[in-house]
Amino acid sequence: MTSAILETQEHRDLRAAVAALGARYGREYFTSAVRDGRHTDELWADAAKAGYLGVNLPEAYGGGGGGIAELAIVLEELGAAGCPLLMLVVSPAICGTVIARFGTEGQKQQWLPGLADGTRKMAFGITEPDAGSNSHRITTTARRDGGDWLLSGRKVFISGVDIADATLVVGRTEDARTGKLKPCLFIVPRDTEGFQRTRIPMELHAPEKQFELVLDDVRLPADALVGDEDAGLLQLFAGLNPERIMTAAFALGLGRQAVARAVEYARTRQVWKGGAIGVHQAIAHPLAQAHIELELARLMTQKAAALYDAGDDAGAGEAANMAKYAAAEAAAKAVDQAVHTLGGNGLSTEYGLAQMLTASRVARIAPVSREMILNYVSHQTLGLPKSY
Ligand SMILES: Cc1cc2nc3c(=O)[nH]c(=O)nc-3n(C[C@H](O)[C@H](O)[C@H](O)COP(=O)(O)OP(=O)(O)OC[C@H]3O[C@@H](n4cnc5c(N)ncnc54)[C@H](O)[C@@H]3O)c2cc1C
Repeated sequence: MTSAILETQEHRDLRAAVAALGARYGREYFTSAVRDGRHTDELWADAAKAGYLGVNLPEAYGGGGGGIAELAIVLEELGAAGCPLLMLVVSPAICGTVIARFGTEGQKQQWLPGLADGTRKMAFGITEPDAGSNSHRITTTARRDGGDWLLSGRKVFISGVDIADATLVVGRTEDARTGKLKPCLFIVPRDTEGFQRTRIPMELHAPEKQFELVLDDVRLPADALVGDEDAGLLQLFAGLNPERIMTAAFALGLGRQAVARAVEYARTRQVWKGGAIGVHQAIAHPLAQAHIELELARLMTQKAAALYDAGDDAGAGEAANMAKYAAAEAAAKAVDQAVHTLGGNGLSTEYGLAQMLTASRVARIAPVSREMILNYVSHQTLGLPKSY
C-alpha cells in the first residue's frame, strides 16, 4: 500500500507488526471494553511490551529513538484495526516530546522511561471554557510563592485525566497575564491537592473520558515547570504540532477501518439478482473516493511528520495543520459513506458503524477546529487579511 519511497523498510515492518497486534484485538475488543466501562489496558500493555508506545522517545530514556513518523504509524494501524489508543496523542506525542526537548535532566529521568514503557501516562490540558479556539486568551495563572508555584484556573474537555499519572497544564505567569500569550507548562500529578476533575458526559464511544478541571491554588514545586517560563510559543508548539500529526493518524485509522468494513459488506450483501450491492457505482465510487482521500491525507501526514522529525518546526506547523484538516475531512466522509453503505445495518449496534460517527467528528473539532486551520492557511500561507 505504501511504497518504499515514502516509508523505509523499517516503517513498513513497523506497520505490519502493529497491524498484526491490532488484528489480534480488533474492533470487538474495543467495543466490549467501552460497553463494560473498562480501559483497553491489555492492548496498551502489549503495545508497550513491543516498544510501540515510546517509539518516538529518546533511546537514552528507554524509548525507541524514532520520531513522530513512527508513532503516527502505530496509532494509524491500531485505529485501522478498530482499536485506537487515544492516549498516544497526548502522553508520548505531546508530553513526551515537550519533556524530551525542554525538560530538565531530572524531569526526563522521572518521566520519560515510564511514558516510553507505558507504565505511566500523562494528559495534556490547554483548552479553557472562556478561551476555546483562542488559546491567547487562556487565564490559568501561575504565581510564585517562595520556591513554589501556585496554579489556578479552569480547563475543559481534557482527555484521560483519570488514567494519567499527571497532566501537563498550559498556563501563563502572573506578569504575563495581559498582552501576548507566553505559555508555560506545568506537570500536575493527578492527586495534587486543589486539582479537581469532573467528568463531562460525551456522546463518544471511547474508553478515554473527557474532564473539566478546576485548579484552585494548586501548590507545585519549582521543578513542576517544564522548560523556560519565557520561552513562549516555541515550547508549546513543540508539543502541538505532534498532536496535530497524531490526530491526523487517528482520523486515518478510523477512516480506513470504516471503509474496510463497508467494502466487506458491499462485496457480500445481495438484494437484487445482479450480484452484491458493490456492483452499483453509486455504492462503489464513493468508497473509492473515500479511499483516495484517505491516501492523500496520509501523504500530507507523512510530509508533516518528516518535517517535524527533521527539526523544521516552522514547515511542520503548516504541514501538520494541513494534514490534520485533510485527514479529518477524509475520515468524516469515509465514516458517513460507510454507514450509508450498510443501509439499516449502518445504524445497528451489531455492525458498530454508527458509533464511529461521533468519533469521526472529533478530529474536525480538536485539537484545533477545521475553521481555525482554514484561518491559518488563509493568513499565514495565502497572506489574506484577518477577520478577528
Ligand atoms: C473528544 C475531545 C477530546 C478533547 N481532548 C482535549 C485534551 O485532551 N486537551 C485539551 O486541552 N483539549 C481537548 N479538547 C478540546 C478541543 O481542543 C476544543 O474543543 C477545540 O480546541 C475547540 O474549542 P471549543 O470547543 O472551545 O470551540 P470554540 O472555540 O467555542 O469554537 C466553536 C466553533 O466556532 C468556530 N470558530 C471559533 N473561532 C473562529 C474564528 N475565528 N473563525 C471561524 N470559526 C471560528 C470553531 O471552528 C468551532 O466550530 C478535546 C475536545 C474533544 C471534543
